Amino acid sequence: MEVNPALQLPTIQYEGFSAEESAELQRSGIIVSTLEQIKGWARSNSLWPMTFGLACCAIEMMGAGASHYDLDRFGIIFRASPRQSDVMIVAGTVTKKMAPLLRRLYDQMGDPKWVVSMGSCATAGGPYVRSYSVVKGVDQVVPVDVYIPGCPPSPPALIYGLNKLQEKIRIEASGKRVSV
Ligand code: SF4
Repeated sequence: MEVNPALQLPTIQYEGFSAEESAELQRSGIIVSTLEQIKGWARSNSLWPMTFGLACCAIEMMGAGASHYDLDRFGIIFRASPRQSDVMIVAGTVTKKMAPLLRRLYDQMGDPKWVVSMGSCATAGGPYVRSYSVVKGVDQVVPVDVYIPGCPPSPPALIYGLNKLQEKIRIEASGKRVSV
């Protein structure tokens, strides 16, 4: 299966056309694909993360969303309600007190939904790993799709992680599984 380089959308060769004719159609802007792959492509280019931050990593997340890094150019637009969101970026320290509320917000998000663990606190407890009050990995509370290392990860690191999530959504739309 080929990938259209401009759209990053997997395309299939229509059975009535030869390889040369399919290539000619692609050059003319006509592509043939499956509904699932078009859905995956559309979803991956319109990720709506929840406006939700837990600690210092959230400042970097806000920096990624602001004008200099501008997440909007990837179709990534923060939403103020879990019911309008399909991505949870866990940006900061997850305390045991906060964990049930984080889970409730996750449950309120519509399907399909994805989780990005941003920074070492969310991924494994970070500098507070020996604390009595911190969850040692947000994967104990919600399923995680992408982990971003760092304390804190910079806005470009978050953008790279979100690009990887987009890639994962497109690959899984073709029926393959991507494990973390
Ligand atoms: S990983 Fe570092 S920067 Fe991020 S929330 Fe934890 S202590 Fe703060």
